[in-house]
Amino acid sequence: MNPNLATVVELQQAILHLRGAEQRLHGIPDWMRELHDEHAARKAEIDELELSVEDAARERRTAESAVADAQEKLKKYQQQINKVSTQREYGALLQEIDTAKAQIAASEEQALSLLERFEQTQKELSEKRESFKDVEERYNAELARWEGEKPAVAEQVEQLHGRIAALKERLPKGLVAQYERIRERHPNGALARIRLLERPGARGPREWHCSACNYRVRPQVVVEIKNNGSLVQCDSCKRILYVEEAPA
Ligand SMILES: [Zn+2]
Repeated sequence: MNPNLATVVELQQAILHLRGAEQRLHGIPDWMRELHDEHAARKAEIDELELSVEDAARERRTAESAVADAQEKLKKYQQQINKVSTQREYGALLQEIDTAKAQIAASEEQALSLLERFEQTQKELSEKRESFKDVEERYNAELARWEGEKPAVAEQVEQLHGRIAALKERLPKGLVAQYERIRERHPNGALARIRLLERPGARGPREWHCSACNYRVRPQVVVEIKNNGSLVQCDSCKRILYVEEAPA
């Protein structure tokens, strides 16, 4: 293989390794993902229950002040009862008293059921908080383990940056620029392996394809790359084509 093409292949591998290492450094590591998701879900449940507890408490306060208001009115009406002079006024006042009593009963009933809801939610919340302790503890332990792994990964990132710089040094500037241009378009890799199409039992000439976009690669291009290490871009996706060396 042309030394430049071989270097570009190495460069590509180093860049992909770097990306993996950076993801490990800044993202949630795979081995922590499950616990991370569980932790987040349980935390969300607790947050939601806390809101329900607050809602029930607030609604209960509203119902209790409705009881107090209605009791206040009832007291007022009862004091007026001795002052009425006509039968009509008396009848109207009695009706007001009945309404106030019904309001008191309804609001008391509501306040009671809100109290039950409050206590029920509160109980559920303490149970969730209790069982969350275990998840939280395991989560914190894994976080600590992850923190412990970070320095080694950070060092790997550092080394890969150095290696990438060294590989770029070895290549002509124009080729590095070309590589970077292609990589802007294809962040997952500016290179594509040429793949021989497997057609069991088929007759006729063999066919090669770009492994990234599947576009056909002419046989003489394959020969040029194999024999001269020519830098050829795929006609369709423009990635630099290479042939995987057969294992020795
Ligand atoms: Zn292609």
